[in-house]
Amino acid sequence: MLNANILKLLNDQIEREFYSSYLYLSMATYCHSLHLKGFGHWFFLQAEEERKHVTKILDYVLEQGGRVQFKEIAAPPTNFKSILDLFERTLAHEKEVTSQVHKIYEAAQKQKDHASAVMLQWFITEQVEEESTVSDVLEKLKIIPDRSASILYLDKELGKRKAD
Ligand code: MG
Repeated sequence: MLNANILKLLNDQIEREFYSSYLYLSMATYCHSLHLKGFGHWFFLQAEEERKHVTKILDYVLEQGGRVQFKEIAAPPTNFKSILDLFERTLAHEKEVTSQVHKIYEAAQKQKDHASAVMLQWFITEQVEEESTVSDVLEKLKIIPDRSASILYLDKELGKRKAD
């Protein structure tokens, strides 16, 4: 049985993961509007991963006999400045998600809710990977001018991303 506070925090996290998915879908469509379909593909897969994060928490809440409370998902931004802008926003967003995951983990530890803590450990590890992957692309983009052949090269590279 989940403690009421942990259940609330997990429900909030479900909303956050949904929002992440929505945000990356918006970014994917922006890439397509620039005809950078490789970047678009990368963001579509990113959106799909976030949907899996939703399912992971949702399954856990159900397993623990908790009620999932769905909330309204805010509309993501649709106007972006550049591909660089997308990755800057993505990194900032993922850092925010990381800090929220850490907060829920700390709350679970405080409650001696070991099961939730173990489940959240997966997310902690996942966030390290997310931030690292995004930083890597971001650092490359910082040295590449917006409209250059290197963008096309990176578009091709990111287009190779495979679904997990
Ligand atoms: Mg996520």
